[in-house]
Amino acid sequence: MTQPAWQHLAWIVAIVLVATAVGFLSGHAALFAAIALAVLLLLNTRNLLRFEHWLRHRKSEPPPDMNGLWGEVTAITSRLYRRKVFHKQRVLLLLREFRRMTSAMPDGAVLLGPNREILWFNRAAGQWLDLRRKADYGIRIDNLVRNPEFVGYLDRGGNALPPRIQLPDRPDQWFMIHLVTANATGQQLLIVRDVTAEARLDSMRKDFVANAAHELRSPLTVITGYLDSLAEDPGLDEVWREPVREMRRQSERMRGIVQDLLELSKLEAQGGEAEASPVDVGGMLALIRKDVTSRPEPAAPVNLAIESDAQLLGSESELHSAFANLVSNAVKYTPADGRVDIRWWVDGDGGHVSVRDTGIGIPAEHLPRLTERFYRVDAGRSRRQGGSGLGLAIVKHALQRHDARLEIRSQEGKGSTFTCHFPRSRVLPRASTAA
Ligand code: ADP
Repeated sequence: MTQPAWQHLAWIVAIVLVATAVGFLSGHAALFAAIALAVLLLLNTRNLLRFEHWLRHRKSEPPPDMNGLWGEVTAITSRLYRRKVFHKQRVLLLLREFRRMTSAMPDGAVLLGPNREILWFNRAAGQWLDLRRKADYGIRIDNLVRNPEFVGYLDRGGNALPPRIQLPDRPDQWFMIHLVTANATGQQLLIVRDVTAEARLDSMRKDFVANAAHELRSPLTVITGYLDSLAEDPGLDEVWREPVREMRRQSERMRGIVQDLLELSKLEAQGGEAEASPVDVGGMLALIRKDVTSRPEPAAPVNLAIESDAQLLGSESELHSAFANLVSNAVKYTPADGRVDIRWWVDGDGGHVSVRDTGIGIPAEHLPRLTERFYRVDAGRSRRQGGSGLGLAIVKHALQRHDARLEIRSQEGKGSTFTCHFPRSRVLPRASTAA
């Protein structure tokens, strides 16, 4: 008990005792005690009524002036009330500020409940996704925005790469969406960003590269043709033999680059998912092996282990391009006394193609950037080997279109393993083809 409470109790006991003592002297102890208790009850009731009146009608004014425990109770209540008012005003102010800021925000933001129901959205999101304030609150966002890529991204819980999408009624605009888990209660924040300018630049860049590569192809064919005839001409002056050989090598390299650029442009232009035609992986890898081992230059032996007769559902040309690039790299970067192993197998996770070599390997710091266009670990060596620096970019794009991923493990000086992991949905067991 606090000090004012003790004092209050002590006062009551003292008053009743004094009244009883006086009553005892006059022979009416019980009567005096009863009168003292009645007076105390009246005083307390009066204070209670004043307190109740202040609480109900004048809380914003200073509390009534009361002594003792009642004074303490009113002071505490008044403090609590002021604190509550202060916090309420602060929250209101913050909320107003938040609303002002989010409506001025250039990005769209939608707060979703655990079942993807719309809890709140800002002005930009309302405009772009065509959401109506109040009317659309509580409705699942995938019932209102019916874009398959958008819905697919939400289904994957935002774990996938944020997609670039177009929305109905806004055919000239591109948007990037990003889902962020807001808190432990399962609420999520959907961020929508207008990326039209980036998308236009990107498409201009792709068009430019594709057009430039296309335009370069014909003159290069002519130059290579003449160089070939020149090299075979027995009347060619001896001093010109080596320069012509070098020119042929360089024009061949240029042809390789142009061809890779065209292939990459084609892959990028197609977008979306690759077709799903059954592809005989074993047969394809055997052909690729035959192709690299029949080259005139001395090269490491290439072994093939086909551990499954299952087929892959995909695009034959794109898969061929991906696997051929990996095998050709393995041979290119492995000395003749090393070895290259190609393997195809299927397990519970899906289908896998790995190309392992005992070649020069790749230092760890280069691994994350290896699939970027024109990224080379050793540009001089790659050029000498006739590499365009585009091979792994083609592999990555082709695999992406098959929902597959590329895993790269490598140790400098020991060798590398490139593994393509295909999901189960892309694997077709042989039994089902025979059926
Ligand atoms: P390139 O045409 O130069 O081979 P890629 O895109 O195919 O271009 O490969 C990018 C770089 O990755 C290469 O320049 C090379 O440095 C490295 N690389 C690729 N495969 C291997 C491998 N099997 N062993 C060692 N380095 C490799």
